[in-house]
Amino acid sequence: MKRILVTGGAGFLGSYMCERLVDEGHDVICLDNFFTAQKTNVVHLLSRPNFELIRHDVTLPIFLEVDQIYHMACPAAPGHYQFNPIKTIKTSVLGSINMLGMAKRCQARILLASTSEIYGDPLIHPQTESYWGNVNTIGIRSCYDEGKRVAETLFMDYYRKNKVDIRIVRIFNTYGPRMHPFDGRVVSNFIRQAIQCQPITIFGEGDQTRSFCYRNDLVEGIFRLMNNENNFIGPVNIGNPGEFTIRELAELVIELTGNHVALEKRPLPPDDPSRRRPDITLAKKHLNWEPQIPLREGLEKTIDWFRSIDFDHYRPPTPNYV
Ligand code: NAD
Ligand code: UDP
Repeated sequence: MKRILVTGGAGFLGSYMCERLVDEGHDVICLDNFFTAQKTNVVHLLSRPNFELIRHDVTLPIFLEVDQIYHMACPAAPGHYQFNPIKTIKTSVLGSINMLGMAKRCQARILLASTSEIYGDPLIHPQTESYWGNVNTIGIRSCYDEGKRVAETLFMDYYRKNKVDIRIVRIFNTYGPRMHPFDGRVVSNFIRQAIQCQPITIFGEGDQTRSFCYRNDLVEGIFRLMNNENNFIGPVNIGNPGEFTIRELAELVIELTGNHVALEKRPLPPDDPSRRRPDITLAKKHLNWEPQIPLREGLEKTIDWFRSIDFDHYRPPTPNYV
């Protein structure tokens, strides 16, 4: 059994990771500044003797004794990371430096939750880990994209210079229960809008594509990467290669909710990537991982969860939601 730190552990993905690690019997420390987190995500873990919750900001140093670190802390939805872009960069850069320092001191293995956003608006398709990306350095998405690119650089340099045992996962769009219903991401927006019989907001023409991975598949891939003993150092794509246009997603949500709401066009935000699909050859080969849950099934589970929650209990963290 290990002592495991999960930064951003009260968020959408982090809370699910904490839950699984606690169930496996590890000593889990969940660290979060509650910027986009919900206490309800982890309240059920508070009574477990092997779970500890710390309110802390990763941009500030902290000294803990751990064997593994899942470094997930960073706002992930565009509306959240653009709310205070300078804080977003600090979170990726200073947060990674602090966590890498801890990993070095404790000789802990550390995993970075990186992102498909490091590919920007990709010029090759699907995206392989060897592709360097096409990222605007000065746009409204840059605080997130460039922050994660620097974080990857830091991880590789701590590995090369200090022999820190690192893992880097490039996560593609992931959805599922515990998404913040007002995070402004496409899956949460569309499901909430359809359930509330409001028009579904399509940005641009809706012909841009994304590949949607169900939360459980994603977390399984991350665990396999973290616990792989083949000293797997470079970045690995984890995502579902099924590729859908945003319009197709809207039509599927309408079909599955049974609420025949209208589609309402909104302007396409600047630098919105036109297509996105992971090449998961590396994950298949080295982690024996591939997603199991198709979009239709994952959406059904997510819609059930959205129907079970009270939206009034969720504070919209920023004014940037529709
Ligand atoms: P989330 O917003 O639900 O979780 C992020 C968590 O980090 C929140 O609990 C938030 O309060 C916390 N946090 C933010 N800044 C912090 C700081 N300075 N100090 C401490 N805690 C801080 O988002 P998520 O979807 O669960 O994303 C988790 C990680 O996965 C992020 O690093 C994100 O970049 C990465 N990722 C997610 C996706 C996705 O589709 N969900 C895709 C690519 C990458
Ligand atoms: N999008 C949309 N309507 C919405 C929210 C998002 O059409 O209400 C589009 C958005 O422009 C983007 C895609 O859906 O092309 C995915 O957006 P999201 O914010 O979920 O993630 P990201 O752009 O970071 O992949």
